[in-house]
Amino acid sequence: MSEFEQKVLKLLEDINTKLDKLMKTEPVTSSSTPKASPEPSPAATTVKPSAIVDKQEEDARMEEKPPVEGRRVCPECGGTAFATHEDKSQVLHQMGGVKIYAKKYICKKCGYEH
Ligand SMILES: [Zn+2]
Repeated sequence: MSEFEQKVLKLLEDINTKLDKLMKTEPVTSSSTPKASPEPSPAATTVKPSAIVDKQEEDARMEEKPPVEGRRVCPECGGTAFATHEDKSQVLHQMGGVKIYAKKYICKKCGYEH
């Protein structure tokens, strides 16, 4: 056996012992970290989307119930219930391709439009 071969064998043995140490230490660190990480993450992902949905629903309610709708009184019959329709001939705002149309209020009692 040449000196070079002996050196290579020693290096290989060193690598083997190092690998053995790594193999022994890895399961300890890997088993402790996955257990800790999955528990908080599903809880965070389930709470966050619902909170976002709640906020979106609140925003939708705010848009659906403008103060005008409750105070508006039909000049024809005095009714206060109105259906809102977008008047697409009147564009109030245009932001990034999204058009906000003027709203028409149609009396639910007599159909008066204004
Ligand atoms: Zn009316």
